[in-house]
Amino acid sequence: LDDGLEHNFIPINEQLRRKIATVHIDRDDDIQVARMKLPVVGEEHTILEAIHHNDCVIICGETGSGKTTQIPQFLFESGYGSPNSETPGIIGVTQPRRVAAVAMAERVGQELGNCRNKVGYQIRFDANVSEGTAIKFMTDGVLLREMMTDFLLTKYSALIIDEAHERNINTDILIGMLSRVLKLRREKAETDAQNYRPLKLVVMSATLSVSDFSENSRLFRTPPPIVSVPARQYPVSIHFNRRTVPNYNEEAFRKTCKIHSKLPPGGILVFLTGKSEINEMVKRLRKRYPLAKKKLYNDIPEVRTDPRNVEVETEEIEFGVSESTDTFEENDDFTEQDEDEEEEGFEENLEDGQTPEDPLYVLPLYSLLPTKEQMKIFEKPPQGARLCVVATNIAETSLTIPNIRYVVDCGRSKERKYSENTGVQSFEIGWISKASADQRAGRAGRTGPGHCYRLFSSAVYESEFSTFSIPEIQRMPVESVVLTMKAMGIDNIVNFPFVTPPKKEMIRKAETLLRNLGALDDKKNITKLGQKMNSFPLSPRFSKMLVVGNQQGCLPYIIALVSGLSVGDPFISEFEIVPKKDPEEQEEQKDYITEEQRNVLSKFNKSRAVFSKLDKFSDVLQLLSAICAQDHVAKADRMKFYDNNFLRSKIMEDILKLRKQLTYIVKINKGKGLVASASTVSDDELKLELPSKPQIMAIKQMVAAGFIDQIAIRADLIDRDVKLSNNMTISSIPYVTLLPTHEPDTEPNAFIHPASILCKSGELPPSYLIYESLNVNTSSETKKLRMKPLNDISGRSLANVAANSGLITYSKPLGHPY
Ligand code: ADP
Ligand code: MG
Repeated sequence: LDDGLEHNFIPINEQLRRKIATVHIDRDDDIQVARMKLPVVGEEHTILEAIHHNDCVIICGETGSGKTTQIPQFLFESGYGSPNSETPGIIGVTQPRRVAAVAMAERVGQELGNCRNKVGYQIRFDANVSEGTAIKFMTDGVLLREMMTDFLLTKYSALIIDEAHERNINTDILIGMLSRVLKLRREKAETDAQNYRPLKLVVMSATLSVSDFSENSRLFRTPPPIVSVPARQYPVSIHFNRRTVPNYNEEAFRKTCKIHSKLPPGGILVFLTGKSEINEMVKRLRKRYPLAKKKLYNDIPEVRTDPRNVEVETEEIEFGVSESTDTFEENDDFTEQDEDEEEEGFEENLEDGQTPEDPLYVLPLYSLLPTKEQMKIFEKPPQGARLCVVATNIAETSLTIPNIRYVVDCGRSKERKYSENTGVQSFEIGWISKASADQRAGRAGRTGPGHCYRLFSSAVYESEFSTFSIPEIQRMPVESVVLTMKAMGIDNIVNFPFVTPPKKEMIRKAETLLRNLGALDDKKNITKLGQKMNSFPLSPRFSKMLVVGNQQGCLPYIIALVSGLSVGDPFISEFEIVPKKDPEEQEEQKDYITEEQRNVLSKFNKSRAVFSKLDKFSDVLQLLSAICAQDHVAKADRMKFYDNNFLRSKIMEDILKLRKQLTYIVKINKGKGLVASASTVSDDELKLELPSKPQIMAIKQMVAAGFIDQIAIRADLIDRDVKLSNNMTISSIPYVTLLPTHEPDTEPNAFIHPASILCKSGELPPSYLIYESLNVNTSSETKKLRMKPLNDISGRSLANVAANSGLITYSKPLGHPY
């Protein structure tokens, strides 16, 4: 090997060799050559020794050092996964992302040559594992699910938990659980050697900060050994922008063009935040620098509507990387500078052959891209063209693109955010951590010295970027985690060996909510209902709605509503059309709006009147009306329909996608199947007619079942001192919430959000409201607590729902209570 780097091949000791004898791998020559260059291969002996002597081993190695592709093969070659060896169980490898699970299974298959059929993968709704599978790649969610039926994971002899540095919830929980499984399997193996063998656990991280795992006495009584693979990183010069421009897409385009036209050969990797940004950028770059043979490109796939993409958003959102050491600070060759707009570090001259208009081979890379398209990043670019990959942070540590010399980093990523009030998740673009930014820069130094262009200033980097991202488990409500644990029989959550524990208060809050939802009983044990709820990949409130929703033909409506509530509000509000300083000054301001605005407003009111026909007191039924209405609009006319009805098209489309996916899950859950089936959900099947009167009553109770703790009572009904008067606006009528709100400096009462359908009704609002969330309006002088209502509910129904928090039974509806 003539790559100027030292290789370290130590013969494997005899004890290990005995095992190897069972497996013979015939690799292709080029694969063999490529493997030998990977730093991890030089450590094969050390790694196997460590695993041989310890049940848990931690492996740290730079992204691209060969951890994911090689370590499963080391284990396989030394006998793990072979029926006749001392370690017959299969090798499991978990990945946080589906795409990595599939891509890595494919790659390892290629590398295994004659043994390629020994590798399989399993992700939710898709799998290619068989009897003969010896190495199984899967998402961490899949392994968690497997633990529910077989806590000791008896079919595995070794498990590799990859990308542990990302600290996402599933990985963290898995490591906690596996620390116990290791102990149990060891005990079992000692007492019942016939049926049990010890399990080996390998935790892999792209960074060196693994003390949360290694020095954690909750997890391991004796700290597991850490094998660190020497890094082979070339220096990377960092170029900060002098100014941080808000439009980073534009800036990324400009910078990429400049690199391509001015700088010597070498691949360009551009980090953006999501699919649509990336597709947009890819289109622009391909247009600007066309290839001689266009046919090399497939069309950029449009948004896929394959209902099997259930994990769509959770997978599309790549988690922020955390806990990494700042390798660059120790690097003498590392230079850092703020760039002048004029200079921008483009002082290098063009090398021979590269002219400004050379073609650029532009490829997108994100989770939802079909695997085949993703794999193109590993192929050689066409003759004379420079490779340019536009990626999400999937290219940060999961996939290593060969020959990247320039990185363009927007410094942002899309992150999952949870609303504390409802557990509703949203996706927001925010700054990444310093650790992530350095990982991204590092991508440019894999094959030689490189450059990283940061589209933000060093001042912003210093002041806005956190050192590491906070582990997911400390950022988000843990209701879902607690429910999953309870489903696995872990009763005392507080004593669970968390890598980093969530706040006790958050656990308590989660348990209370789950009890209110009927998922846990008084002793905090999981109920049958809780088990059922656990089968949906949704926040427990919404799972509850789905479980109780399967009555009176309401399920399709509940699925539509759950989709709508999860995705977000599609209704453009009146205040966005006619801006007002304070909604309560509505009356006075009426005279100030222009003729044109008046017309738009009248059109708006007409449209809203149609959607509120179903029920004037229910925001969720307004949402349902809108969904039903669009079901009856031809696909080609939908955009116009959204425009005419003041609906956000993006949100409506996302709602429809989620509805399709949930319908699919409900379908296969009924059939109890967990693995892929070819059945799909047709658009016709989803088409909804408006619900009937009894169904409306039922839907309101089903919504209440999911939000049973979020009830507000009109204040005058419980407090004699509160008097309502005729000249009060609806949004100023006080409500009292059942839950204490704990908001400092706010009035204790809650008020209906002016955008609610209730403020349009012109009638005295109902006695009881179920609300989705409470927000504090910080802009007004008296901080007002605004509630976003879902629907009204009669006292009778409310009592009914509460009494049957496990299972709703319907007594004859009393009719409208007001
Ligand atoms: P790590 O897990 O340490 O980040 P990997 O095992 O993922 O490293 O990658 C090792 C090497 O294998 C990288 O150089 C990467 O480019 C290469 N590689 C991975 N998948 C493929 C593939 N499908 N085709 C060609 N090369 C690949
Ligand atoms: Mg890897």
